[in-house]
Amino acid sequence: TILSNQIAAGEVVERPASVVKELVENSIDAKSSEIDVTVENSGLKLIKVVDDGNGIDSSQVQTAFLRHATSKISEQRDLFRVRTLGFRGEALPSISSVANVRMKTSTGSIGTEVEYKGGKLVTQKASESRKGTTVEVASLFYNTPARLKYLSSPNTELSKISDIVNRLALSHPEIAFSFISNGRELLRTSGRGDLRQVLGAIYGVKTVSKMAAIKGNDLDIKVSGYVSLPELTRSSRNYISLILNGRFIRNFPLTKAVIAGYGSKLMIGRFPIAVIKIDADPALIDVNVHPTKQEVRISDEPMIGKLIANAIYDMLRDKQL
Ligand code: ADP
Ligand code: MG
Repeated sequence: TILSNQIAAGEVVERPASVVKELVENSIDAKSSEIDVTVENSGLKLIKVVDDGNGIDSSQVQTAFLRHATSKISEQRDLFRVRTLGFRGEALPSISSVANVRMKTSTGSIGTEVEYKGGKLVTQKASESRKGTTVEVASLFYNTPARLKYLSSPNTELSKISDIVNRLALSHPEIAFSFISNGRELLRTSGRGDLRQVLGAIYGVKTVSKMAAIKGNDLDIKVSGYVSLPELTRSSRNYISLILNGRFIRNFPLTKAVIAGYGSKLMIGRFPIAVIKIDADPALIDVNVHPTKQEVRISDEPMIGKLIANAIYDMLRDKQL
């Protein structure tokens, strides 16, 4: 029902940035090679995500807006080897219950356009056949004034959106991202799979020139990425990004492992800029811990931590730092 979707929205759709995250994750899951994100007024007026992914067949479009309808896992054991970013089937019904949503989607033949207002379908018609999906979310939280009231300033909400898009772009250098806010381009990546290029687009070329590649391997686990040299630090841990199997995660022990890799080479209270990619067998990871899926359980976390710390240590030693 619309009410239970609004309740779920309380967990999944906290703020405009959460909407952007869910929509872009859907575009990534749909195997897009290009994803364009546009927002107006920090996402409150409009959030638009255009992708060139697989699209949704016209017979499945309404289903996609039903709670717990996911095309991504079909049996229980799939839950223990999730390879997609989504799998709970909550985002579209939640978002459409607290906004006006228009979706145009096509698998390559005749497309479909639907419009939902406050969770109710108001239009469905045939649409253009360009393969891919466009989702427009307008008037977010228009029917949940309490939620609106708890948002931060427009600038803070915009920087949260920007953060999310940056992280998604870092997680997927093989996808060309663009991010435009009130007509201003804030990010553009090439989609050529070059993590260094994405880092440059986000942090600037000068910053990236003070970062070095790291690498580590174990039987089931691969670690790679870029970390800043000890001369380049920040006063917050927020510049340490962890990407596990293409999913941006928060994980304190692994964040500490990054810092530990520098040994005594960092000043107290200073932290590196780092993007650490971890590739592991999905069976070792439980992503079904929290609705936003940023927290995951990893078996063998200490081992991954050692791998990360050693990879950084080795890089610094090779550079005689
Ligand atoms: P989940 O991602 O957990 O499956 P969502 O509510 O986010 O649930 O999306 C529901 C379904 O709609 C997805 O399983 C997928 O089949 C379809 N879908 C949503 N967005 C897109 C998109 N951009 N391209 C293709 N399919 C999509
Ligand atoms: Mg989803």
